[in-house]
Amino acid sequence: MQLKWKSGEPLAWPRGKVVCVGRNYAEHAKELGNAVPERPLLFMKPASAIVPADDAFTLDESRGPVHYECELAVVIGKPLTKASEAEAKDAIAGYGLALDLTLRELQSELKQKGHPWELAKAFDGSCVVTELVGTEGFDDLGAIHYQFYQNDELRQDGHSSQMITPILSLLALISQTFTLEPGDLVLTGTPKGVGVLNKGDKLRLVLEDKLDTHTQVC
Ligand code: ZN
Repeated sequence: MQLKWKSGEPLAWPRGKVVCVGRNYAEHAKELGNAVPERPLLFMKPASAIVPADDAFTLDESRGPVHYECELAVVIGKPLTKASEAEAKDAIAGYGLALDLTLRELQSELKQKGHPWELAKAFDGSCVVTELVGTEGFDDLGAIHYQFYQNDELRQDGHSSQMITPILSLLALISQTFTLEPGDLVLTGTPKGVGVLNKGDKLRLVLEDKLDTHTQVC
């Protein structure tokens, strides 16, 4: 269950926590009928939520339909506490793509009751992560492009320029409250186009010319 670099090397650190941001793309907030928050809406998944995308991963539909949210994942390589944006940039070890899997019906129920989201967002297997790549070639963090295909249909087309809180501001802000440690991941929010995953779906996650991951839902 260890995450790996594209080179095949395992990540040098144990799996860490995953800090996520909700509604970081205006068009996605709109599609779910949510207001864009004044401050970034943060939540976490534990290390036990992470599964590598590999060739296939298992979908547990026993608690309701599971929705995908494809997101750019930032790999943290140095500790960050109350960091500046420059320190945040220096602490990025690499990137990957992740599926923030969500029990959407349960999440709506929890939201209505004013309860925390963990039951809908932080369950085992709720963070599917591709292989990872280093920072080379990612000079402009405001111009990172990624795509998610479900059965050859383009579902999500993300560009970091559309993030409401850009990557470095987001890392710096997170670190004001939660120390980020080597091996942690930050999921930077999902663009519009979220939807239901089904067993048998063939998925493809593309990060520019750096990653082209194919996986299947079992
Ligand atoms: Zn998400």
